[in-house]
Amino acid sequence: MIDIPKHIIDGIISQAYNELPNEACGLLTGKNNVAVKQHALTNIDHSPEHFSFDPAEQFQVLRTARSNDLEIIANYHSHPETPSRPSKEDILLAYDPNILYLIVSLADEIPVLKAFRIENGKSTEEGINVID
Ligand SMILES: [Zn+2]
Repeated sequence: MIDIPKHIIDGIISQAYNELPNEACGLLTGKNNVAVKQHALTNIDHSPEHFSFDPAEQFQVLRTARSNDLEIIANYHSHPETPSRPSKEDILLAYDPNILYLIVSLADEIPVLKAFRIENGKSTEEGINVID
């Protein structure tokens, strides 16, 4: 379960639309499974089918988080045309069982955001609790 403020969810969804046709990506920092800040990152793949973070931006997020006594608690990306579930590649590239992987799908008219924990090559959906 992860608590995410409504404005962060809206921010993820608008970033996903803004970066069409490519996948959008970023990180959420926070504490104790409560998201505090959204960090939009550059998808250096510039691809509609996969993403890679800009390593320098990723490092900057980590530094900012640490100096604010926060942690990276989730990573997110968009699926412009496929459902909100991790692809084989997403599962293969998931490196941290301690964070959640959020996927926003724009395949349907209404965007769908889901959260997953990925561990040992398996993904399990987790609940998202929207807070103010
Ligand atoms: Zn994906």
